[in-house]
Order: sequence, then structure tokens, then C-alpha cells
Amino acid sequence: MVSETNQSKNVCVIGAGPSGLVAARELKREGHKVVVLEQNHDIGGQWLYNPNVQEEDPLGRDPWLKVHSSIYESLRLMSPREVMGFTDFPFLVKKGRDPRRFPSHRELLLYLKDFCEWFELRDMIKFNTKVHYVGPLNYGVPSEDLKWVVRSKDKNSEEEVEQVFDAVVVATGHYSNPRLPCIQGMAIWKRKQMHSHIYRSPEPFRGEIVVVVGNSFSGQEISMELVKVVKELHLSSKSLDIYEGLSKVISKHENFHLRPQIETLREDGTVIFNDGSSIIADTILYCTGYTYSFPFLDTKGMVVVDDNRVGPLYEHTFPPALAPSLSLVGIPRRILGLPFFESQGKWVAQLLSGKKALPSYEEMMKSIKEFYHSKEEAGIPKHYTHEIEGFDYCDKYAENVGLPKLQEWRKDLCVSAVVNLFINLETYRDSWNDDIDEKLQEALRSPYFTQLGVEPEDPSL
Ligand SMILES: Cc1cc2nc3c(=O)[nH]c(=O)nc-3n(C[C@H](O)[C@H](O)[C@H](O)COP(=O)(O)OP(=O)(O)OC[C@H]3O[C@@H](n4cnc5c(N)ncnc54)[C@H](O)[C@@H]3O)c2cc1C
Repeated sequence: MVSETNQSKNVCVIGAGPSGLVAARELKREGHKVVVLEQNHDIGGQWLYNPNVQEEDPLGRDPWLKVHSSIYESLRLMSPREVMGFTDFPFLVKKGRDPRRFPSHRELLLYLKDFCEWFELRDMIKFNTKVHYVGPLNYGVPSEDLKWVVRSKDKNSEEEVEQVFDAVVVATGHYSNPRLPCIQGMAIWKRKQMHSHIYRSPEPFRGEIVVVVGNSFSGQEISMELVKVVKELHLSSKSLDIYEGLSKVISKHENFHLRPQIETLREDGTVIFNDGSSIIADTILYCTGYTYSFPFLDTKGMVVVDDNRVGPLYEHTFPPALAPSLSLVGIPRRILGLPFFESQGKWVAQLLSGKKALPSYEEMMKSIKEFYHSKEEAGIPKHYTHEIEGFDYCDKYAENVGLPKLQEWRKDLCVSAVVNLFINLETYRDSWNDDIDEKLQEALRSPYFTQLGVEPEDPSL
């Protein structure tokens, strides 16, 4: 449905990471009045590296975390820079910066800073301002008339500030609150246990026997750097059926052992694996992923997090009973994040201005139920609800708000990076075949890369 009302709303965006920034830009473009509240001193979200983790609970069990970013010192991007950028702001190589296709995390922060400057977003952001409460002011009225109370506190003040907004966009990310396994003996194991949320560098583990739990990307990457300094590295995995890239890495190191899941932990430091083997370890490092958490959000029970499903959310964004004045941007995983968040932000902006309308409450709920049902039918566990496989969903989402589909070269370069990773885990960021180079050249010549009028440098040189 399309109407021409074009109302301007007072909107609060919570979080100045990639999704909050692009949502703020879209809202501003659509003519809304926007305030972004950000707890940190700068923009960037996960990409604002924070080495000071001493005050954080090593297992990150308090929902009110002290540290937001889970990025470690040596981290390089998993996806090549040319596929990552927003639709109208390519992630270009700049003089004096990290020119690599898979640059360090610092380079993405610089890109986001450039984005903020180019679109003049900084004036909208209140830094050092943590949101403690968001809830409906007038719960019970029709959802289009809802207003929202937001309470926040400046870092340097004891006073809580209360403001009322027409709409709130929650863009607080979901790679901070640890998802921990339930292992027998975890509570009595006295040695070091921590989650990768506070892992920063390998040096503190020098000479230790370390068990890394979880064989997904961060478990593998952290293991690869730890194995160079620890006495023994035991990577505990749900499945011992591993792909070629990891297998090559393990075979290169005598002190790198692949283990099954942990069955029990004993007080004296023993770790018993479920094949009966055991070791005595100094540290257990849980690389077991993250969970969605919104400790500030009071939705009167209309949105709950259940086994990593945030729901009900229409198209991963709108709680039907509170939409469109409450939206959550940045929820989907396994997606080309930045362009997708841009589509989400645009949709929120268009709905709030009245340019577009959502289906009825009943239709949205029906669609969500059908979606859950299709996941169940396909045998996909609940905690994978927000994992989007493939590009079709992103394309549909973009088209709905008038953005272009992802370019074919973007999809190809993305897929070939993943294929290369599975075969050459250690080297995929620095070497690739000629086919990929050709695609890259095609991409760099495309209007996408020349749209800002800046000649792109070739990151592969
Ligand atoms: C180790 C690691 C590696 C990754 N590698 C990649 C990669 O290679 N490529 C990729 O595309 N993605 C990667 N990601 C995913 C990354 O999280 C996303 O790229 C992106 O940062 C998500 O943006 P966001 O804005 O939704 O959330 P975030 O970046 O998490 O930003 C959320 C913001 O909200 C703020 N906030 C939270 N709570 C409050 C509050 N109560 N009050 C005020 N402000 C608040 C935070 O301070 C933060 O600034 C990685 C993540 C991790 C942890």
C-alpha cells in the first residue's frame, strides 16, 4: 500500500553501530527528526575495538554488559571489502590506510566514520548515553498511536533523562551477550573459564593448555592464533567431520588436537570429553556464539527472546502489536549485513512517514506463523530463526523499499570467498585465483565503485 501522507516523526534510534547509523540516515532523508543514543564514546558498534575487558565477567553472564565489542586485536574481516558497503557508499581503499581486500577491523571503523561524515550524521548522535528503559507511554491504544518513553543516562551524570518519542528503532546488535553451553561441572571448575566476548590476544595464554569450545568461525580463528603460543590447543567440536581448510591447519601443528564435545568438568581441572578421553587444562575458552538481549526493552510481553528467536517479528523487524512505532534493525544473521540494514532502515522510515503501510496485525501474525512452520518442517532448530541463507531474501527486501538488488558480482565475490575459506582457511584472505581477480576488476569498473566520483584503487595490487 502506498499513500502520500509524508508525516515527520520524532524518532529515537538506539545504537550507533552500522545498523543504527544507516537507519538514522534513512530516517533523516525521509524527513523525520532523529536522535541516536549511543552508550559508547564513538560510533562503530562492534567495530569500536575495546581492549579494556578487565571489569567484565569472564563469562559475560550479566545482561547489562560493561563491554560492547567482542572484536579481538588481530581480527580481519571475513568478507571482502568490496561486497560489504552500503548501496550508495562503497568501501573504497584509501591512501595511507589498510588496502587489503580483507582488512583489519580498524578499516571498517574508518569506513563507518567516513560514512558518518559524508552524510553528516554526527550531530544527531548523543554519545556516552546508555539507554536503561524503553517502553510504551500509552499501551493499549492502537499501535499507530503509540508513543515511547526512553530513559537514558549520560556516563558523567547520575541523573536519568526521560524523553518521549513517536517511534523507537532498536539497533543494539547481537554479538555481545554470550550464549553459553550447559556442561556438567561448569560451576565447580576452578580454573580459568571465559567466553570469546572478552578474548583480545593470545599472549595471556602462553604456555597453557587451552580448550576452545566451539568450532565455528571465531573458534577456528582464535584457535589458529592461540596454537602458536600455547602448550596444547584442544578444539572441542560438535562434529569431528571437519572441512579441508581446518584439517590442513590441524595437521600442521603437533599441539593442535580436535576433540569431541565436553562431557564433564572436574574441580581439579580435568576435562572429560564424550569419547572418554580426558586432559587437565588451564583455560576453557567458550567460542559458542552470542544471544539476543534487550535488557532495557519493555514490550509488555509482546516481544520475547526464546532460544535465540526474537519474536514475533514480522520480516525480522516489526513486532506486529507495536509496529511500526517499534522496530528492531540488524536482527538477521548470515547475511550481507550493511546493505540489508540499509533496506530495513529505509522501510522503517517509509512506514513512519506514511509512504508505505504494513499489512494488518492478523496478516503479519499469519505470515510469522507460516514462517516458523516452514522452519520446523525443514527441521531447522529455533535458534537459527534469524539465519538467512542465500541472497533472495535480501533482494526481495531491497526491492520492496526501492533499493537495487545485490549486484551479481557482489554475490559471486561473496560466495567465492566462502568457498576459498573452506579450502584454504589460513590463507583465503591473502590469496585467491584468477577468476576472482577478474570478477574483482569487473566490480571496480562498475558504476557502484565510481558513484562517489573517487577513482577506486585496486585492493588486490
Ligand atoms: C568477532 C566478530 C567478527 C565479525 N566479523 C564480521 C565480518 O567480517 N563481516 C560482517 O559483516 N560482520 C561481522 N561481524 C558482525 C557485526 O556485528 C556486524 O558487522 C555489525 O557490527 C552489526 O551492526 P549493528 O549496528 O547491528 O550492531 P553493533 O555493531 O553491535 O552496534 C550496536 C550499537 O548499539 C550500542 N548499544 C547497545 N546497547 C545500548 C544501550 N542500552 N544504550 C545505548 N547504546 C547501546 C552499542 O554500544 C553499539 O554501538 C562480526 C562480529 C563479531 C563479534
